[in-house]
Amino acid sequence: MRLGAHMSAAGGLFKAFARGDEAGCDSMLVFTKSNRQWKAKPITEKDVEKYKKAAAEYAHIQPVAVHASYLINIASPDDALWEKSYQALKDEVERAAAFDLPLLTFHPGSFMKSDAAAGMGRIAEGLKRLLAETAVSANNVTVCLETMAGQGTHIGRSFEQIATILNEVGEHERLGVCFDTCHVFAAGYDIRTPETYATTIDAFDKAIGLDKIKCFHLNDSKHELGSNKDRHEHIGEGFIGKSGFANFVNDLRWANHPAHLETPKTKEDEDGNEIEMDPVNLKTLRDLIEN
Ligand SMILES: [Zn+2]
Ligand SMILES: [Zn+2]
Repeated sequence: MRLGAHMSAAGGLFKAFARGDEAGCDSMLVFTKSNRQWKAKPITEKDVEKYKKAAAEYAHIQPVAVHASYLINIASPDDALWEKSYQALKDEVERAAAFDLPLLTFHPGSFMKSDAAAGMGRIAEGLKRLLAETAVSANNVTVCLETMAGQGTHIGRSFEQIATILNEVGEHERLGVCFDTCHVFAAGYDIRTPETYATTIDAFDKAIGLDKIKCFHLNDSKHELGSNKDRHEHIGEGFIGKSGFANFVNDLRWANHPAHLETPKTKEDEDGNEIEMDPVNLKTLRDLIEN
């Protein structure tokens, strides 16, 4: 796998490279704008220039994948929120395209006061429009639905829900899935042993098709199998455990897939000192690779 982590783009997207390099990333995940705001300053030519220069300097860190804002909800039954979300998602895709970032992952969304079927319909409607309206402006960006933990009214708690959306949109080369280990586990799919891992991956293959997996989020889980709670833990310190991650990093089908930590950035040691945890978690993952 092309292992890496979510890296801050504070001060400019180009700055994520030096941070990713220091943490030991082979690839990385970024926000191209604040994840808790709707609006962003437009990207300037200078932003792109600085980014391209850094990308060339740190050419060993690729691909760079994008995570869309958490505010976006194209499953919403509310027309105004839906349209606002749709425009924000389109903007995210076009921002990724401007920097030539090949993957944009977003949370499918929450159906709120409607129901799951209605929510999936809304998502499919948004994706169809998105793929059509960005066919020219962002034809280099693949849009990925993230697998979700099943909290509240979130869509994406089962492989079947994601399959329903993908089927409704129809086969499209710019459409994929981001497989989040914490979310899948919290949703009730076991991945801790070679056997349960094989069963889960097989279930994904039957429902969606393994070729749809474009990237991974590697997070351990603070809560038990099937808890439906989305709380990330350091690799090996949660309920998935190291053995679960060994299944992923040794599966040659993912040898070239980007896989990113979204685990807590720091931890306090016994003396109260803050330890940077991305390098530690990346080392834990790399140590699991059998040669
Ligand atoms: Zn994730
Ligand atoms: Zn999560």
